[in-house]
Amino acid sequence: MAFGESEVSASSVIPLSPRFSVITALPDMFAGFLKTGVVGRAVETGLVSVDIVNLHDFGRGRYRQVDDYSFGSGGMVLMPEPLDEALASCDGDAFVVYPSPQGAPLTQDLVESLFSRASRASQASRIVIVCGRYEGADERFIERRGDLEVTVGDCVLTGGEIPAMAIVDAVARLVPGVVGKTSAVEDDSFYHGMLDHPHYTRPADWDGIGVPPVLLSGNAAEINDWRRRAAVARTIARRPDLLARCGIGGYMKCGLYAIVTPERDTPERVVREWMRICSEYGVERLIAIAGEDGEDRERWTKAGTKVFSLLTHALLWIARREKTEPLVFDGRLPRHWPDMKRTVLEQERPVAFCFAEDEGVPLPLGARLAVVLDRFLGTR
Ligand code: SAM
Repeated sequence: MAFGESEVSASSVIPLSPRFSVITALPDMFAGFLKTGVVGRAVETGLVSVDIVNLHDFGRGRYRQVDDYSFGSGGMVLMPEPLDEALASCDGDAFVVYPSPQGAPLTQDLVESLFSRASRASQASRIVIVCGRYEGADERFIERRGDLEVTVGDCVLTGGEIPAMAIVDAVARLVPGVVGKTSAVEDDSFYHGMLDHPHYTRPADWDGIGVPPVLLSGNAAEINDWRRRAAVARTIARRPDLLARCGIGGYMKCGLYAIVTPERDTPERVVREWMRICSEYGVERLIAIAGEDGEDRERWTKAGTKVFSLLTHALLWIARREKTEPLVFDGRLPRHWPDMKRTVLEQERPVAFCFAEDEGVPLPLGARLAVVLDRFLGTR
């Protein structure tokens, strides 16, 4: 019987209830894991369902043998037939994950995609995790039945059980209700692309070390600002590689402005499209430089942009509004994005991306606007 299906039928109560089966030669390893702490509660209340499949139930002979010698010498290898029969015993449409040091790294992105796969209410879909032991599973089984190999790091463990627990644990905490506050999950490392800020608890003075005074101030805005900065500083110091994939909009202290210099007579419809792109990415304001042309000025103002006759006026306006001079980047491609993002985060200044139609690049202004904003503010 599935852990978590005993008291409450998960699928009848909550549509988003990830379903797992774990095929293992050491089922006892999961007893504590599935009865304790956050995962234990999630299983008990049916928020997550985990079915443990004992590989030895499908073993061969009197001793329920599940492994045999590696052809060509070496250690023991899990045989394909018991694995296949164990897999066939799992209900539903299985997505088979094989924990392996040779797999793709278990990242938050991967966890999120496993979560959506395991929670598809319409299909009887489940994640089946096949735990290797010894030298691992027979390669033919992995090739024929495996959908994804996942590693928990560049190290070798004795079996796939602990990686399986890591996968179940990480997916379970994404289920609404498993972790008390959804915000606790969303504020954690990687959720928005950066590392989490540091945390402190009582006593306020421990071993002669205090906590950052702002955290004791009760001023929510200042605390949030401190946390934002601390998260940025940590990410830059420890994992600058994350910046390449992270949309930094939520971590910027000041706004991002797009300044366009359209060709004369650019229709209102086109400028409205640029406006839509900007609002999609949370750009503070789209500014158009119209020179002295009254008709362009009128048309583009109607489209919703703020219009100036000169770029310098626009930059001055931003500086006054944000009380800091903006960092100005031109809208040509390509660029070294992680460095630019880092500069913006470190300097805590507003950003003005300036685009003109005639910058000697093949892409039209609107396309460059979308690419630049996506690289800066989009996540991947
Ligand atoms: N011969 C394998 C190799 O060198 O790639 C290692 C086998 S390991 C001793 C036994 C099992 O533990 C593997 O089949 C895998 O299921 C699991 N395992 C070990 N290290 C792992 C890691 N870093 N990530 C995920 N699973 C791991």
